[in-house]
Amino acid sequence: MERDYDVAVIGSGIGGLCAGALLARRGYRTLLVESLDRWGGRMSTVEKDGYKLPTGAILLHRDGPLENIYKEVGAGFDVVNLPRTLHCRIEGKDYQMKLNNPLTLLRVVSDLEISRGRLARLGGSMAAEIGKKKIQQALGREIKNPFAKGAKLDFREWLMQYTDDEVLHKIFDTIIVAVLVCHAWELPADEFFSYMAGLGALIDAGVAPRGNVELVEGLVEAIRANGDAWLSSPVKRIMVEKGEVRGIVVEREGRDEIISSNVVISDTGPRRTVDLAGSDNFGRKYLREMRMKLRAGPAMLVLVASDEPLLPKSAHFMIISGARRLVCAGDVALLCPALAPAGKHLSYYCGYPLNSLVPMEVEWERIQCQRDLEEQFPGFKKHGEILHMGVHDVDSDFPGGRAWPGYDMPQETSIKNLYNVGEGVKAPGWSGTNKAAKTAAVVADMISRC
Ligand SMILES: Cc1cc2nc3c(=O)[nH]c(=O)nc-3n(C[C@H](O)[C@H](O)[C@H](O)COP(=O)(O)OP(=O)(O)OC[C@H]3O[C@@H](n4cnc5c(N)ncnc54)[C@H](O)[C@@H]3O)c2cc1C
Repeated sequence: MERDYDVAVIGSGIGGLCAGALLARRGYRTLLVESLDRWGGRMSTVEKDGYKLPTGAILLHRDGPLENIYKEVGAGFDVVNLPRTLHCRIEGKDYQMKLNNPLTLLRVVSDLEISRGRLARLGGSMAAEIGKKKIQQALGREIKNPFAKGAKLDFREWLMQYTDDEVLHKIFDTIIVAVLVCHAWELPADEFFSYMAGLGALIDAGVAPRGNVELVEGLVEAIRANGDAWLSSPVKRIMVEKGEVRGIVVEREGRDEIISSNVVISDTGPRRTVDLAGSDNFGRKYLREMRMKLRAGPAMLVLVASDEPLLPKSAHFMIISGARRLVCAGDVALLCPALAPAGKHLSYYCGYPLNSLVPMEVEWERIQCQRDLEEQFPGFKKHGEILHMGVHDVDSDFPGGRAWPGYDMPQETSIKNLYNVGEGVKAPGWSGTNKAAKTAAVVADMISRC
């Protein structure tokens, strides 16, 4: 069977869904195909024992590219906001802070007493007062104009100019790992400043009250208003002729279907896109850039059920610095009770290995996360039950992140009318679901302009 569409989108990750919904809304007859039997990729939900478990994304930032796309396509963005307070556990000691503007978090961490005390104890190389002010001023300057100097320092080197306090370095590393899926010594400093400038660091983030899968269904509906969306339909091949994309071959209900389309958008990550279209069809420069640059980031996601709260009261979201692997945690059922059976808690814990370049020693990393749970959360042993310990390794289909910021590919490929969206392609200043959404907006604009 052969069918025609203006646009074929491969993959229902949030990047693919956003691109498909925008283009369908703008008048392009669109087909979106997903190989799994659920929508959303790493922004989805699976049910277990009455709990609604996230497959990846948990906190969704408000007012960014993602929510804007929902507005443009007329889909509801039903998200319950977190209170504007942040709970930090630093080297075992707890701090509460109010988040009022993008710089608050950075000001607070660079201002922590713990840092000053340590510097004094270590006889640090610079006076704590001077270091503190310098860091705050420098952060403010760089965030206002992130790429101005074209600084080629990594973030750790950048911070070293102002302080060598190891606790402070660890705190910044924790924040970077939690939001940008690589370590401070792996991240170009200007990418961090650009992220802080764009996103407004953790201000107004929320959780989908009945799980992400319900939220992404709004985008599926937007696509179906001017096209089709199919589950359980893996794309086997992207068809290319004379350097130009022609469509896709999809396996559906045991048969291959040929879909002709002028444009193909892949949300499967740049590497899989190349596999699907055949590497011979790509320019050498493009393939070389992909080999040299593209680096995925790992992550561990531990989901725990309990009949008692395991996190400190009111810690809807907390950053953990100084643990073995865990960098952040939260109790989503506190905010959205429908995510757990009545009276139960559902907490999540994100962990990160010490190196983002090579695949993890999975069993070892699991043990480290489990030790963190026992050491950082005393109620865990008695009340907690691990529902899921997800390993999102650098070489898996669903890594922690498809590209470290600054190491991602362009949205356009070297094949005419074949684009990538999602986390593996460029959208400076954004991370996670907002990054994926931003790439979709950029590609939809490119196509609409043609
Ligand atoms: C543990 C973890 C925690 C996270 N926490 C957050 C968070 O709190 N906030 C946040 O904003 N972000 C978070 N993220 C990141 C966020 O989940 C991702 O940025 C986002 O979901 C990526 O979307 P994507 O468009 O790249 O597509 P993906 O989610 O990678 O989806 C790609 C889709 O393509 C499909 N596919 C692949 N091959 C084919 C094929 N041949 N044919 C058809 N379909 C195919 C896959 O099945 C999949 O559904 C987290 C990620 C992880 C792993």
